[in-house]
Amino acid sequence: MQNVAADLAQMLGAERVLWEQEHLVTYGFDGTAALYGEAGCIALPKTTEEVSQIVRYAAKHRIPVVTRGSGTGLSGGSVPVPGCIVLCLVQMDRVLELDPKNLTVVTQKVAELAEAAGLLYPPDPGSMRISTIGGNVAENSGGLRGLKYGVTRDYVMGLEVVLADSETVVFGNKCVKDVEGYSMKDIFIGSEGTLGIITKVLLQLVPKPAAKKTLLATFSEMDAAAETVSAIIAAKIIPCTLEFLDKITIRCVEEYAHVGLPLDAEAVLLMETDGHPAVVQEEAQQMAEIARRHGASTVQVAQTSEEATRLSTARRVAFSALARVSPTTILEDATVPRSELANMIRFIQQVAARYEVAVGTFGHMGDGNLHPTFLTDEKNAAEMARVEKAMTEIFEYAVKLGGTITGEHGVGLAKKAFLPKAIGDASLGLMRRLKRTLDPDNLLNPGKIFD
Ligand SMILES: Cc1cc2nc3c(=O)[nH]c(=O)nc-3n(C[C@H](O)[C@H](O)[C@H](O)COP(=O)(O)OP(=O)(O)OC[C@H]3O[C@@H](n4cnc5c(N)ncnc54)[C@H](O)[C@@H]3O)c2cc1C
Repeated sequence: MQNVAADLAQMLGAERVLWEQEHLVTYGFDGTAALYGEAGCIALPKTTEEVSQIVRYAAKHRIPVVTRGSGTGLSGGSVPVPGCIVLCLVQMDRVLELDPKNLTVVTQKVAELAEAAGLLYPPDPGSMRISTIGGNVAENSGGLRGLKYGVTRDYVMGLEVVLADSETVVFGNKCVKDVEGYSMKDIFIGSEGTLGIITKVLLQLVPKPAAKKTLLATFSEMDAAAETVSAIIAAKIIPCTLEFLDKITIRCVEEYAHVGLPLDAEAVLLMETDGHPAVVQEEAQQMAEIARRHGASTVQVAQTSEEATRLSTARRVAFSALARVSPTTILEDATVPRSELANMIRFIQQVAARYEVAVGTFGHMGDGNLHPTFLTDEKNAAEMARVEKAMTEIFEYAVKLGGTITGEHGVGLAKKAFLPKAIGDASLGLMRRLKRTLDPDNLLNPGKIFD
């Protein structure tokens, strides 16, 4: 591989090509537990032209290319396949244009830039401080505001993509309406680095809401929390945040962040509404009443922005709080129709008890997107086997309830075994044909999503 590294160093300069063992180890992981792969070398391009040059070189020498953003993925998408070139795009972070007249931005540091212009970029994955826009588009990431505002796909107006044969293509534009042929950009959104390398993104922004209110309710019964969610939606309120923590997560959060959650609570709901101040005020009151009516033990309504930050910390730190508890944390994202949430949460708790594994569940209750999080130790083979079985049952049950095996983290390596059952042969066959058409030599992130 040193020859490949030397060739790439000719293109990029030696300082932007890494191939020493410590770098290969560092770039061998993403955010997914128990997955590792060793690349041949890592390239750090800064321009589309450099990406295209590297892809042309890789195609000529039949070397696989694994595109990587910040490596925060939770399904193994950017874990290297042996001997590949890791194309790490973190240096392609330039803001190219902010266009307030058309409410668009072409950028990677999107959220802050939008905010400074009095606008909002709604998708807010928990990893937003470190993950890249390219990674967010490649995974079609969601976030806490998904219920009201949707996911990354809903804000992508255009993409520049380098294809497997090194050609650069541009899809989309600043027009709100555009039906020129197939919606090609949508094929690349959520394609996990398997169809092309995203080098520029044109994003839509929305006006920043004038007001926001944050509430936190605790429940001594999980069903009461689930019923509160259904009643809020039935009351025609669409909160911008409607998040859930179960009892294990509550205890871990409290030990870690001391936000004042009652340790005997079975469930916590974090609720936020944003928009016109008068509407926000009314919706906050309604949500508090609905929660009380459905048996909430406590309902706190933040009166200051500091208090709002304190309440939302309970949800923001959930993953970190759980991750401290055991050597290995496996975060899943089974998703079900909202009406099946209580059913699904109960099932997760039963499965965890049956297989004697610790599982804390939190997530985007308003989207039906749950994060059952296994607290385990990858060195304990017997326990890992039980985790695997419990996880399989959870995925199968989600699909049985009309849900999906992944709501936002993607399939990658971690979930590809479950995909055929989840989507069926016809869909999978079509995906394979698309992959063969766009990447006939199977060089872009091979072995991810499906073999
Ligand atoms: C603490 C934590 C919280 C998280 N919270 C959320 C959350 O709330 N919602 C959510 O959806 N996810 C969440 N994630 C998962 C993860 O952050 C997202 O999937 C994110 O979009 C990955 O971005 P990245 O830059 O780290 O990409 P990577 O992990 O480097 O890559 C992810 C995938 O995208 C591909 N890829 C990356 N860049 C490109 C590109 N430019 N072109 C083509 N393919 C590319 C890679 O090949 C890989 O398959 C969280 C992760 C962590 C660690």
